[in-house]
Amino acid sequence: MKSITFVVLTIPLHGHVNPMLGVVKGLVTKGHKVHVFSTEDFKEAIIGAGAIFKSAAGFKYVERFSPDIGKDPIKISELLIDMTEEQIDEVISLMGKEKADLVIHDGFCLWAKVAARALGIPAVSVITTIVFAPALLLSFPAIAWTQLSHLMVNFGEFWKVFQRYNRLNQKFAIKNDSVFDLFINEEKLNIVFTSRYFQPKADSIGKSFLFIGPSLSGRNSEKEKYSFKKEQPLVYISLGTIFNNDPQFYHICIAALTDKPYNVIISVGKATDVKVFSNLPENIQVRNHVNQISVLQEAALFVSHGGMNSVNESMYYGVPMVLFPAVQEQQINSERVQQLGAGKVLNRMDLTKEKLYKVISRIIEDAAFKKNATEVQRSLKEAVGIDAAVKKIEELVV
Ligand code: UDP
Repeated sequence: MKSITFVVLTIPLHGHVNPMLGVVKGLVTKGHKVHVFSTEDFKEAIIGAGAIFKSAAGFKYVERFSPDIGKDPIKISELLIDMTEEQIDEVISLMGKEKADLVIHDGFCLWAKVAARALGIPAVSVITTIVFAPALLLSFPAIAWTQLSHLMVNFGEFWKVFQRYNRLNQKFAIKNDSVFDLFINEEKLNIVFTSRYFQPKADSIGKSFLFIGPSLSGRNSEKEKYSFKKEQPLVYISLGTIFNNDPQFYHICIAALTDKPYNVIISVGKATDVKVFSNLPENIQVRNHVNQISVLQEAALFVSHGGMNSVNESMYYGVPMVLFPAVQEQQINSERVQQLGAGKVLNRMDLTKEKLYKVISRIIEDAAFKKNATEVQRSLKEAVGIDAAVKKIEELVV
């Protein structure tokens, strides 16, 4: 097979870059040339996956993303459309220079879909969340109701965003069925990192969506050492890499688990000073960052914010979860874990140490949670995997 040149555009956030790197590595291994546009934060990981790093300083997504925006689909939509309008000329020019045979973009990168159309280059969408389709809301009536009420109250704002989105689509001759496409940016081939079993309302998702299971191959899975005094079940706690600065939450976790019959690793994220957690008991260790892939292989339970990657990784290792979602996407992932009996969703707002300990001990002791998590694990391991995705991508070019 001839070597193909790919241009990859992603959202410069760990949860979006990490799974994309598995695909990138798969393409590089087949001898293809892969140019990845991202920010300096991800340079090392991109080069580590064998790709060519291209600095894209104009990708201002990260600075403008906040928990408030994350909770509000109208605001996220507005941000994605702003970003597209602001940087489309730059993206078309950068992409054009690379003479790419094919564009691979994150499902949120409307600007990449638009630029690929403008240049007449075929594209693949890589979806690092579950697939947001209208039918999904039928699966989560409470979430649907909240969103619908929000939409009614803010209809003027929604309508303006909707019109801007339509204008962009018309200008670049992009056809799509619904405004939900803003979070998928559907292409001829769409890669999803979960299984059809985990995807809610999977029967409404077409054949162009390839469910490949988690993409862990681009990640370092080397075992990390945590020396605990006693051998006992491991509880791993992390709120991901974005909205993780919540010392109060970590203090409740520490109070709930101090001297309890579990070893505990808490990854608090880079924004929280670990020195705040002094005089820790023997059974609890706090870090700014851990190798999550490695820790999950030892864990009995994962207390998480319900980010797609964390859910995917936890389920891949058959680890039941306690979930504290902050934004809407995490809420859907978390509710799905609960629907499948592999975990429980709680609210951070009214959390107490007693409540937390009760749910943790219940999930560890009740074998049903482990059994249900193992069922999701089976579906993820049976998903077609990176090699099948690489093959399908190559077929689009030859
Ligand atoms: N992660 C990690 N170590 C940590 C915390 C997170 O390796 O200490 C990784 C985790 O494995 C996952 C990603 O960061 O791949 C977090 O993505 P997710 O979608 O769960 O959440 P986000 O950070 O996007 O909110």
